[in-house]
Amino acid sequence: MAKVAFLGLGVMGAPMAGHLAKAGHDVTVFNRTRAKAEAWVAANGGRAAASPAEAGEGAAAVFACVGNDDDLRQVTLGEQGCFAAMAEDAVFVDHTTVSAAIAREMAGERALVVDAPVSGGQAGAEAGKLSVMCGGSDAAVAAARPLMEAYSARIVHVGAAGAGQTTKMVNQICIAGVLQGVSEALRFAQASNLDLDKVLEAISGGAAQSWQMVNRWSTMAKDEFDFGFAIDWMRKDLGLTLDEAKRNGALLPMTALVDQFYAEVQKAGGGRKDTSALVTRLPKG
Ligand code: NAP
Repeated sequence: MAKVAFLGLGVMGAPMAGHLAKAGHDVTVFNRTRAKAEAWVAANGGRAAASPAEAGEGAAAVFACVGNDDDLRQVTLGEQGCFAAMAEDAVFVDHTTVSAAIAREMAGERALVVDAPVSGGQAGAEAGKLSVMCGGSDAAVAAARPLMEAYSARIVHVGAAGAGQTTKMVNQICIAGVLQGVSEALRFAQASNLDLDKVLEAISGGAAQSWQMVNRWSTMAKDEFDFGFAIDWMRKDLGLTLDEAKRNGALLPMTALVDQFYAEVQKAGGGRKDTSALVTRLPKG
């Protein structure tokens, strides 16, 4: 069993770190708001460090799941960041959804770094069934994989540094388009006075089928939007995606449009609602 550190104990990080502890690893945690780290230790054992540097000292692996690029820079390269304190052969695994640019920058700082954003949301993190998309060297992913298995159903090494983050962007592009399609389809079905359960039954086994349709059609119809991944986070991710597209030359007209639709929902106070609240900007016939 390994001595590891986990930085960032939010909705995703706390259960992921919990699975590492349950797997028998010796886990030291750090969180910006210390009370969260203390509550985590009370529930899971281990130890709360006073800084990322203290958490990283002597650890074979350091994991992070913080908010954005600035947070990641602070916990790694900041004044009390973990990089200066980590052993040379220790691996750093970042589960935050951040820019591909900072992922590549991190990989330039140390020998073993994995950019490893996740999908599966809070439920996936709690159940230990996340999908992890990895960028980095073979050696870095090989060092991280047995540890990440504690909370993952699927771990795919996609390519070099940054490839994990760009794969997460591919994921978010798909979700944005599918959710706009499901939103328009739902409003059209309502305007046609169709029985929504029958429509779902009729089309959810065919070519129109999607995870969003199967899992969100009925809740969107009932105006229920309390299912985890918030629009505020989605806008961060779509912003990163649109920036990366400027770099790699891909055209994303639909993604740019849906990003603006999400901005409208945010302006109307829906930033903390889940991403299926995209439907709320379409009037109900
Ligand atoms: P969250 O609940 O806001 O958790 C972020 C945690 O990181 C908080 O506990 C925060 O501390 C801590 N943190 C932030 N900056 C820090 C710093 N500089 N030093 C130490 N700790 C710091 O967010 P989340 O939902 O877990 O999401 C985390 C990341 O995963 C985001 O990049 C998100 O886009 C991505 N993600 C989320 C989901 C989801 O369904 N939630 C799914 C896939 C990916 P405080 O307690 O002080 O705020």
